[in-house]
Amino acid sequence: MKKLQQLLKNIDGKGYKAYKSIQGSYAFEQYQLSIDYVQGDPFASPSKIRVIIPNSNRPIKEEWKQSKERNIYTADHLARTVANAIEKESSFAKGSGKSGLLHIDKPGQEILERTAVQLNNKATVICLSIGLPANGRRINGKEAEKLFFAMIPSILKNSIFSVSDEELEKSVQLADQHIAIREEMKKQDWIAFVADGAILPRKSGVSNRPLQNAVPFESPKENGVTIDIPHRNQPLTGMAITKGISLIVGGGYHGKSTLLQALERGVYHHIQGDGREYVLTDPNAVKIRAEDGRQVTSVNISAFINDLPHGQDTKKFSTENASGSTSQATNVVEAIEASACTLLIDEDTSATNFMIRDARMQALVAPEKEPITPFIDKIKQLRDQLNVSTILVMGGSGDYFDVANEVIMMDQYKPYNVTEKAQQIVKDQPETRSDYHGELTTTMNQRTFLANSLQLQKGKKKKVQAKGLDLILMGNHSIQLQDVEQLVDSSQTRAIAELLRYLDDKGVLKQAKPLTELLDDIEAVIDQEGLQAFAPFPKQHPGDLARPRRFEIAACLNRIRTAKIK
Ligand code: ADP
Ligand code: MG
Repeated sequence: MKKLQQLLKNIDGKGYKAYKSIQGSYAFEQYQLSIDYVQGDPFASPSKIRVIIPNSNRPIKEEWKQSKERNIYTADHLARTVANAIEKESSFAKGSGKSGLLHIDKPGQEILERTAVQLNNKATVICLSIGLPANGRRINGKEAEKLFFAMIPSILKNSIFSVSDEELEKSVQLADQHIAIREEMKKQDWIAFVADGAILPRKSGVSNRPLQNAVPFESPKENGVTIDIPHRNQPLTGMAITKGISLIVGGGYHGKSTLLQALERGVYHHIQGDGREYVLTDPNAVKIRAEDGRQVTSVNISAFINDLPHGQDTKKFSTENASGSTSQATNVVEAIEASACTLLIDEDTSATNFMIRDARMQALVAPEKEPITPFIDKIKQLRDQLNVSTILVMGGSGDYFDVANEVIMMDQYKPYNVTEKAQQIVKDQPETRSDYHGELTTTMNQRTFLANSLQLQKGKKKKVQAKGLDLILMGNHSIQLQDVEQLVDSSQTRAIAELLRYLDDKGVLKQAKPLTELLDDIEAVIDQEGLQAFAPFPKQHPGDLARPRRFEIAACLNRIRTAKIK
């Protein structure tokens, strides 16, 4: 501690580069401070430090980290308390550029495996980014001293050293509950569970917090189930959706898309108070939407699309600019290639001609003139041949009544089970459209990405960098992820960008494994080594990565404009 103080005095007023001399490890009273990486100038991306708190100074009970989930929830809770303490801190060091900035990778509404806080056998490790203070480009040692000797201690005092055991226990209990719900879902073949009382709508299009005064969710009688979960006096009740084909219907503005969005996010777990903490979906559920303009590389979409004008090959369909229907077909095929078990589709973000074609249109446009076999003609095959379920929002067409196992109607934000009614309508008004089947299983492919898919070179350097939630810059190209709706945290995007660098560095694609196997391998690396495996900085400071699902990793690979397929 004294040594750091002396060093800061010595370099005060010198050129910014002299900060490099403080890199190293320092013993403070209650923790070890490790300065792992020092930025080159006050405007560059901030420096990386770690605070290492021995268990003797902030005991973390063994039982809080005994399972993987419990460990993730405890670390998540600690990261939140540090982030809140940083936000409450009033005096920040001043100066040019990023001087005085202090940052932890703050979790959002989801509880994700992330690297910001790590719990090991001996200590709690907190990863922070800081802007080392300067005036212009000269070191401001006094402000730096404030940062290290006043601000950080005060933040730790208000977070790690004041968080109560009860609070941490609550997080751990939520982990247990989520696991219990997931186990029940597996046992019962449920692909979704929405608890009674859940708050589904969000505050606004740009806020993920719950809407105030929303109508709480209330399960239809027919779908009502009860789950015994730990740490709760009474069992949890709510709506279960079973494997198969489920339709969500209802008038416009009655809450259909809101329910589907909650299910999309239900692949992740949410914090207490989110409103969706007991809304869970099959973790292998993938949102499917139209995505005009996306890159497609050699995907077999012939189950849905054939005989395009100019004889374009749809068994190895490639384009730099897909249409609504071809992009949506591609998204279905790619999701299944990556092992999706449930598809989530909303009419609002679908291509109409991909979803339906009614009898009149069939009469007017002869089958040989129409390249598209709509999804309605494939949805049963997906269920029966590939065991892939679908939950579909469709307020505009009753054609899907014929194929649905279950129909849920949203009315004034309340769900009703109208399956029997819909089936009666099917009897009274039989379908006049002719359905078409064709092959399905033989038209689903497994692709292998070649090593030269990854073109990281930009000028003389290799570059791959995440820009916010939905953009990655790689080499001379960008990878657009704005329609990959289940990518929810920019730290996941960062992890994917770092993964691309890792795949390139290690020459992983040279092994020429089919995509599913590649994804299995990547997941195994994360399971064994943690996200640290991809960390850009010295491995001990992985700082700000959160775990993406295999489907979002695949989505990124699939949108690389330089991709090459064997
Ligand atoms: P739909 O897809 O049926 O047209 P949306 O799901 O888009 O309807 O919902 C329409 C509006 O109603 C949205 O602004 C949404 O935030 C709001 N909303 C949805 N569910 C609820 C609810 N349970 N309570 C209050 N408002 C809700
Ligand atoms: Mg809608």
